Amino acid sequence: MAGILSVIKLREAGYTDVAVYEKSDRVGGTWRENTYPGLSCDVPSHLYSYSFALAPQWTRRFSPGPEIQSYFERVADERGVLPHVRFGDAVTSCRFIGGRWHVTTQSGRHDEADVVIAATGVLHRPRYPDIEGLEEFRGASFHSARWDHSVALEGRRLGVVGTGSTAIQIVSAVVDRVSHLSLFQRTAQWVMPAENPPISAEQRAAYAADPESLRTHRQELSDLFDVFANAVVDVRSNELAWIEQACLENLEENVKDPVLREKLRPTYRAACKRLIMSPNFYDAIQRPHAEVVTDPIERVEADGVRTADGRLHELDVLVLATGFRADAFMRPMEIVGRDGVTLEEAWTPRPVAYLSISIPGFPNFFMLNGPNGPVGNFSLIEVAELQVGYILQLIERLRSGACEEISADREVLARFEEERAVAARNTVWVTGCKSWYLDDRGLPAVWPWSFVRFREEMAAPDPAAYQFV
Ligand code: NAP
Repeated sequence: MAGILSVIKLREAGYTDVAVYEKSDRVGGTWRENTYPGLSCDVPSHLYSYSFALAPQWTRRFSPGPEIQSYFERVADERGVLPHVRFGDAVTSCRFIGGRWHVTTQSGRHDEADVVIAATGVLHRPRYPDIEGLEEFRGASFHSARWDHSVALEGRRLGVVGTGSTAIQIVSAVVDRVSHLSLFQRTAQWVMPAENPPISAEQRAAYAADPESLRTHRQELSDLFDVFANAVVDVRSNELAWIEQACLENLEENVKDPVLREKLRPTYRAACKRLIMSPNFYDAIQRPHAEVVTDPIERVEADGVRTADGRLHELDVLVLATGFRADAFMRPMEIVGRDGVTLEEAWTPRPVAYLSISIPGFPNFFMLNGPNGPVGNFSLIEVAELQVGYILQLIERLRSGACEEISADREVLARFEEERAVAARNTVWVTGCKSWYLDDRGLPAVWPWSFVRFREEMAAPDPAAYQFV
C-alpha cells in the first residue's frame, strides 16, 4: 500500500529515477500475505482507499481481502507503478556511505540511492507462539498469515489459537465447514457488532456516475473515524463509554448460555486491545460443534492440544492466529546509518523515530508507518498519504540543493518521546490489558494524540526538528 503510494506521489512530484524493491512476486503487502478465510478490513472500504483513487466498485462496507488485493494491483497497474518494481528480490542491507545509500539485495544486486523510503509495513513478521510440542502435531498446522490452502477443512476438527481480529474472522468464516471447532482463548475480547452490508449494484453505479458523492462519503467516514480515534486516546471520553456500552449489550443480548457468556466477558476496558468488529462471531461460537477453550494450553501433542486441566483436544488442523512481531519494521534488513551506527544500535532498547518518520543519524532515510505512529485506530492509507506529503517536502530540500543530508535532531526526538510517553498514559491502551500496541515498558508504541494533531504535524516539517547538513 505504502510503496505503491510512494511511487505515484514521487512521480507526480517529478522524480523519475525510482526503484521499488519487493521480495515477493506481486504487490499488495498485507493483503497478499494474508489469505485466510473471512479476511476483510475493519476500516470501511470507501475510507480504506487512496484519496486519489476512490473506487465505486467496492461490494461491501468492509470488503473481503481478495477485493482489496485486486484494488492495489489495479491501482499499481493503472498508475504505471509496476515498471518501477523489482520483484522477487529482498533487500538485505542499506548502508549510508559517502552521502548515499548503498542498497544490497539477496541476489547480490547493488544500487545506490540518494533517498530511501521504508514502506515495509507494520504487522508483517508472524509471531509464532512458544508452545511446547508444536512440531509433534500430526495434523496440519500453520500461522494465519501463511494459510495452507491445500489443507481441506470440510468435516475436520479445527483448532484456532488466539482471539485477535484474525482469529475472530477465521472462526466466523469457517465454523460451518468443520465438524468441530476449538477456539483456544487466552484473553476474552470485546466485540463491536459492526454490520457488513453489501453495497447494491445501483449504489455502485451511482458512485461511478457521481465521483463527488464518493468523496463526500469518504469524508463522512473519515469524520466518523476521527471520533473513534479521539475516543481511544481519552479514557474519560463519552465516545469510549458509548463503545463499551455497545460491546457490553452485544455480549449480554447475543450470548445466551450464561457459562459461555462469562467465558467471553473481558475483564478490561473495551478498545484497550484492538476492538473486534464482527456481526457474527457470537453466532458462530454458539454453534453446537464450536467450543471456547479457556484452560491454558499446556502443550501440543501428535493428536491435538493438551490443556492444563489434562484434557486432550483432538484436532486435524491447528491454526496459529497468534499475531505479528509489531516491533520488527524493516528488520531483519541490516540498516547502517552515519558513522557505521546500525539500526539495531539506534533501536536499543526499542524502535523510535521522530513523528514515526525519521531516525537521528540515518540521513535521507524516511519511514512510512514507522514506529510510534498512528496505527490501530485510523486508516493506514490516510496516515501514509499524509506522511508521503511530509516526506516529499523534506526531499524537496535535497532536490533544491538547500542541503545534502536530513535527519531528525536527537534532542528533539528525545523531547518528542518524553511528551509522547506522558500522553500515552491517558489512552485506553494502558488501562490493564496486554496487546501488540505496548512496548517492552508496557507503554503504547503508537500515536497517543488526536488525528487532528497528526494532520497538523504532517502539514509541514518543522525545520527546528531536523539536522540539515
Ligand atoms: P493479535 O491481535 O496480536 O492477536 C493474537 C492472539 O493470539 C491473541 O488473542 C493472543 O492472546 C493469542 N496468543 C498469542 N500467543 C499465544 C499463546 N502462546 N497461547 C495462546 N494464545 C496466544 O493478532 P491478529 O489477530 O493477527 O491481529 C493483529 C492486528 O492485525 C489486529 O490488531 C489488527 O490491527 C490487524 N488486523 C486487522 C484486521 C482488520 O479487519 N482490519 C483483521 C485482522 C488483523 P492474548 O490476547 O492473551 O495475548
